[in-house]
Amino acid sequence: MSDCIFCKIAAKAIPGQFVFEDDEVVAFRDIRPKAPTHILVIPRKHIEKLADLRQADEALVGRLLLTVNRIADEQGLKENGYRVIVNNGRFAGQEVYHLHFHLLGGKAMSWNPA
Ligand code: 5GP
Ligand code: ZN
Repeated sequence: MSDCIFCKIAAKAIPGQFVFEDDEVVAFRDIRPKAPTHILVIPRKHIEKLADLRQADEALVGRLLLTVNRIADEQGLKENGYRVIVNNGRFAGQEVYHLHFHLLGGKAMSWNPA
């Protein structure tokens, strides 16, 4: 087992509050939620960050994003909207170096750097 905390959660070596899992994708609640709903959607495969994605990951990326949408719908976020964030690298403030999509919802977002 690698040292990666998200690999460990995906493998159930340490606990996580799962909301979805299949053979390629896992989703669990963020331990320090920044919104009423804050879920992390990750590939089981260890990819450090968005910039490390390769052509071979094309289908996986689609699956990850479609899973984000599916969970947003299941969590009742579709009507009011939600935010999806990927922090890539140091300047973006990436803390955990295993690719993850933040799904945030349940309140109006106050900060929009984009
Ligand atoms: P990043 O800053 O890398 O985009 O986001 C990492 C996220 O992972 C943070 O929102 C942080 O709260 C969350 N996180 C860090 N360690 C754990 C953990 O052990 N379990 C869970 N569920 N979330 C974690
Ligand atoms: Zn990992």
